[in-house]
Formats: sequence, C-alpha cells, structure tokens
Amino acid sequence: MLNFQYQSLPWNIIFGAGCLKHLPVELEVLGFSRPLVLSTSGQVKNAQSIVELLATNGVGLFDGARMHVPAVVVEDAAIIAKKLNADCTVSIGGGSTTGLGKALALRHNIPYIAIPTTYAGSEMTNIWGITEKGRKVTGRDNKVLPRLIIYDPELTMSLPASVVGPSGLNAMAQAVVNIATDNLNPIVTSMAIEAVRNISAYLPKIITDPMNIEARSKVLLGASLAGAALGTGTTSLHHKLCHTFGGTFNTPHAETHAVLLAHCVAYNASATKEGTHKVAQAMNVADAALGIYDLAKAVGAPTTLKEIGIEYDDLGKAVSVAMEMSMVNPEPVTAERLRQLLENAYYGHMPKAF
Ligand code: NAD
Repeated sequence: MLNFQYQSLPWNIIFGAGCLKHLPVELEVLGFSRPLVLSTSGQVKNAQSIVELLATNGVGLFDGARMHVPAVVVEDAAIIAKKLNADCTVSIGGGSTTGLGKALALRHNIPYIAIPTTYAGSEMTNIWGITEKGRKVTGRDNKVLPRLIIYDPELTMSLPASVVGPSGLNAMAQAVVNIATDNLNPIVTSMAIEAVRNISAYLPKIITDPMNIEARSKVLLGASLAGAALGTGTTSLHHKLCHTFGGTFNTPHAETHAVLLAHCVAYNASATKEGTHKVAQAMNVADAALGIYDLAKAVGAPTTLKEIGIEYDDLGKAVSVAMEMSMVNPEPVTAERLRQLLENAYYGHMPKAF
C-alpha cells in the first residue's frame, strides 16, 4: 500500500552546455547587481572568467574557499562582501565552494548563485556544514538553498579523472541510499533511479573519453538528481560511516564515499531487497553492491580504506565513533558486524552480505 509524505525544495535550475553566458541576465532577473564571486585557490581561473563576464556589475573575487568550510574563512569572506557592499555571491567550484556560499547565506543572510563543477550535489540540498574549533557542525535549513543553480557541463571538462571517479561515486551514494532503503518514497526514489542510470552508464565513458561532452552532461545531470534525492530524502549507515572517517581521520570526502558505498549496500541488502534490486536494475547489473564495487574500480576510484590513509589499528576507533552516533538504518547495526564491514573495506575485498 502506498503511503508517503514528500516536501519539495524551491530549486531554480538552468542546465546546458554554454549556459554560463546567461548569468548576467539571470542576475538582473533576480534583482542582484553587486555579486562577489567565490572559489577555491585551485579554481581561480574559472572564477576570474566569471568576474570578466560580470565586468560591468561584478564587485570582486574571494578565492579562499576551503574543504569543510572553516568558520574563519566564512568570516573573512563576509568582511570582504560587506566592504564591497555585495548583494549576493556567485560560487563556482565543487562542494567546498558551494559550502562557503551556503555558510554566508546562513550566517550573514547573503543570497547566492551556485555554479557547480563537481558531482558533490550540495547545491541541491538544504544541508550546511561549518567547521569550528576542530568540529564540523551540520544542519538543515532552507536558507542555504541557492537562488539559482547554473549547470554548464563545459565547465566540468577540465575535471581530471582523479576527481571524476570519486566525485561520481559520491553522487551515486546520495542516490543509492534513497533507493536501497526499507522506506521507499516514490518521488525521491524516481529521481534517485534516474541519477543512478545516468551516473553508472556515463561515468566510465568520461574516463575513457574525457572530451565526451554528452557523458559529462549526463553525469552532471545525475549528480543534480542525486543531490535532489539527498535533499528531500534520507541518509543511513553509509553517510554515518563517511562522517565518522571524515570527522575523525580527516579522510578525503568523495574518496571515502567511493570506498564504503558498496559495503554498506551489501550490509543492508537483505533488509532492502526491493530497493537493492531497483539499484541493480538501474545499473544494469545482477548485484547492486558488486556493481558499485566494479564501477569504482572501472573509474579508478579508491576501493580500500588503506588507500585513503586509514591504518588497520584505526578500525576499532572507527567502530566505536560510529556506534556512538544516532542512526536510522534498515539493518540493525552491531559493533561486531560493523567491524566485519570495515575489515572488508580496509582490504578492498568484494562486498559481502551478512
Ligand atoms: P571540492 O570542492 O574540494 O572539489 C574537489 C576537487 O575538484 C578540488 O581539487 C577542486 O579544485 C577540483 N575541481 C573543482 N572544479 C574543477 C574544475 N572545473 N576543473 C578542475 N578541477 C576542479 O570537493 P567536492 O568533492 O566537490 O565537495 C566536497 C565538500 O562538499 C565536502 O566538504 C562535503 O562535506 C561537501 N558536500 C556537502 C553536501 C551537502 O549536501 N551539504 C553534499 C556533498 C558534499
């Protein structure tokens, strides 16, 4: 029997190769005239091209965005925005830069436009994160949703294979946990299935043919839909484990998703039979967990905790940190089974059901 609740988020999206050129007009439509462009130091070239595009009405560039959104960076950017009398920000880059746009919206009421260039999908969620005094605090607030998202696949052409693979698996995770669940929501799940179809079919094509704009477009679309699923859906063991490793051992964000996803899907397989079957169907494989494991290998993403800096002796601490977190998960989580899951992921063995 169908029985569900769904609340949408107010997304406003422009998608298409070359559509960045619409930014000046769209800013006018939104009533903004003094945008401050945000980027990381690594993406300053792309950011400068936006400053040039906004030559007549841009106010400047802040290229200090950093991974995990340190509070001190948020305040530095806010000081500059105020000094320049900016009425909005334009973030160009991956989840790190989007995260700064969100934090400025949350803490300083500065609206923002997101121009994502990785597959993090953060721009579609109302989830924010700010790192302060060594701790990353996260929450949900619709205030952090961008006023406009511009997806221009041409801006992702420079994304190297070393980022494409893990970032694609990060997007897969957001979608998969909203299909392989015991609480299927038909609207969230339909977006998530479409995300999995696009990402699993086209991510390997980017690796073998990096200049394939169609493949880049399909994966960017998949990432957007995956973010939409996460933004209006749920998380479970997988995201708690990624949070455990990122927060306690500072492992790289997308790579941590790439290593753990297949194992978490296998862990929940018997409690989420219908959903796990839908993931496999969308990927066109016989087994969802194995399909994800093979996809990670095919795109050169890491598949062992060792590769992302975890020592064997860290596993015990990871289990106790994860067990202390409150989590809702289809399959009951015990310390003993979690340990087995992490041993598997540490060595990169094939994912196995328990
Ligand atoms: P990132 O923003 O640090 O980008 C990853 C790498 O891609 C960087 O080296 C960057 O320089 C490079 N890059 C980006 N655009 C490029 C381009 N056009 N060409 C070449 N290289 C490019 O990392 P990410 O994986 O995109 O995002 C991770 C962050 O996002 C984490 O802090 C994570 O917590 C957050 N996140 C938040 C949500 C949410 O819903 N709030 C969702 C996913 C991720």
